[in-house]
Amino acid sequence: MTDWSIWSFCFAMGKLPYDFLSGSPVHSNQGKVDAPMLVTLLRSTDGENVLVDTGFEAAKSMTGAGFAEFVRSDSLLQRFGYPPESIDKIVLTHMHFDHAGNFHNFPRAKVYVQRYEYEAWKAVIEQYDVSKVTKADWAFSSLNLDDFKALERALDAGRAHLLEGDTEIAPGVVCRLAKDTHTFGSQWVDVSTARGSFVIAGDCCYTFENLNRMWPPGYLQGNPWNMLKEFDRMKGVAGTDLARLVPGHDIELFNRFPAGQHEGVRFVEVTRAESHASLLEPPVLHKAFNDAGVPIQG
Ligand SMILES: [Zn+2]
Repeated sequence: MTDWSIWSFCFAMGKLPYDFLSGSPVHSNQGKVDAPMLVTLLRSTDGENVLVDTGFEAAKSMTGAGFAEFVRSDSLLQRFGYPPESIDKIVLTHMHFDHAGNFHNFPRAKVYVQRYEYEAWKAVIEQYDVSKVTKADWAFSSLNLDDFKALERALDAGRAHLLEGDTEIAPGVVCRLAKDTHTFGSQWVDVSTARGSFVIAGDCCYTFENLNRMWPPGYLQGNPWNMLKEFDRMKGVAGTDLARLVPGHDIELFNRFPAGQHEGVRFVEVTRAESHASLLEPPVLHKAFNDAGVPIQG
């Protein structure tokens, strides 16, 4: 059986209102919380590398607010020994700017997006006069039009592929369509390993609390009832204790899994195939800390 290791890397750190992530009104007026922006690497025992999401190219949000600790995803993976050419496949969980940018800097990778995500956003773009749209418009509050244009170019070039619902894209790696939830055609990734099946949620949930409490986030562009159904489906894979869940933007991730820091990048080792070296051990660790044991900021 093909086994997989999974690592999630924080390519930028944002601050978001607590209720944006974990629900309104249960967390309204409770200030802002740290919100890590993630890309996740799946590496198989056959040597295949699948990247879930590619982040953004510049460290600015759609509203212009900056992010801390920004490292572009291609440069980030290079620091861990994975040059851009080593990535075989890319899953874009959805088209929001903090997930679907920068994929063009991975020259060999095939890109997978749900057809419904592509077609529904295309309809929105045609419906609005995008020359007059500003970032203050809810419809475009998380979409970077340049990413959408890059996707269209990749489709024309035969590099990007549109998925029709749940689809296995590599042995044991299934993209699962969460229709009309966070976005039109958001998808999460179900990864079968020798240690159980793991959920890479994208933004089908933001936090562990979303699933524990069955409470949708304050910000979503789909239907919360559909999202609740999808929470149940993800629990069925990740376990009711959520021990095998990587949510979209939860700082708690770094407490739930073995965490490390390397050249200024925080990461978690979600699970590791027996034959793969740990990123938490030398040679990575000795470069991440100086002789006094202090992390080296890169
Ligand atoms: Zn996001």
